[in-house]
Amino acid sequence: MNPHIHVERNLNREAATRRMLADTFGLVGDAPVTVTTGCGLEVAYAMTSARPEKVTCLPCREHATQWHLAAAADMERLAPGVGFTSRDLWKVAEHHREQARLFGSG
Ligand SMILES: [Zn+2]
Repeated sequence: MNPHIHVERNLNREAATRRMLADTFGLVGDAPVTVTTGCGLEVAYAMTSARPEKVTCLPCREHATQWHLAAAADMERLAPGVGFTSRDLWKVAEHHREQARLFGSG
C-alpha cells in the first residue's frame, strides 16, 4: 500500500479531456480505475491530484514541475491567433510557471 498522493503522468490534461467530454456529451463514469503516475506507478485514480498542495510523492512533484515548465515554454512558442492575444498566452504560461514553483517548493 502506497500512501502517497501522486500526479497523473499527463497531469490534468486527461482529466480536462474527460471533463470536456462529460460537459459536451453528458458522458460520465469513464474515469479510469487506475492511472499511470509521474513516477511510473499504476495507482487508483483517487490517489492522484493535480494540485501542488495535495501531492506528496517527491518524484511526482519533480515530474509535475518539469511538466509545467514545458507547458509554459509551449505557450511562449505559440503565436497569438484568432480569439486570443499574446497577453492571454503569457497569462497561461505564467499560470504554469506558478504551478511549477509550487510543485518545486514542496
Ligand atoms: Zn508518484
